[in-house]
Amino acid sequence: MSEESSCRNFVTTISCPLCHEELIINWQGDDIPYFGEIMYITARCDCSFRFADTMILTQRDPVHYELKVEGPGDLSSRVVRSTSGTIRIPELGIDVEPGSVSESYVTNIEGIMDRILDVVITATKWAKEDGDEERTAKGLEIQQMLRDAMDGKQELTVVIEDPMGNSAIISDRAVSRTLDPKEAAELKTGMIVFDTSSSEMEMDACDPDHSITD
Ligand SMILES: [Zn+2]
Repeated sequence: MSEESSCRNFVTTISCPLCHEELIINWQGDDIPYFGEIMYITARCDCSFRFADTMILTQRDPVHYELKVEGPGDLSSRVVRSTSGTIRIPELGIDVEPGSVSESYVTNIEGIMDRILDVVITATKWAKEDGDEERTAKGLEIQQMLRDAMDGKQELTVVIEDPMGNSAIISDRAVSRTLDPKEAAELKTGMIVFDTSSSEMEMDACDPDHSITD
């Protein structure tokens, strides 16, 4: 490993949003092939506050990615979803917006569909318990479309939008564009936005004496 790549890990401190004690933020650099450098950001406070996010270092404009999922090759396309990313499947009328408990992850298109399927199964169960036949039928229909898409039998479009530019669909077939400021302003960003320019770097975790373990 080159010296440069081994020195992308460091820590900063902020005051905890819950208890206001000092909170250490761990920054861990990583490379995604054909995509670039990303940073995993994690923090854990004694008061139970947890935070995890992913930041793409090479791109900061508000972005819109769109991929028409037509076959198995598309299902394995990698997706980086930060806490500020909104995922949409227009054909199903589904929007997954950032919320107070949103998490960041690196997955693929199939993984995204699988996560959405889990949510739809739960929502369908609740609709059935409520005796809402219309919502139950709609939920079952969406479940079938998602399963068919994961079997390559149904074309669906996966859209991911991120006002912070930290989410992406990594595929030659994905169409991407910059969001205009009005579109970006309408998106939710999740719970916490780090202003990296004002974060103070406290120490270099590359120094083995100061490295922090989980
Ligand atoms: Zn705390």
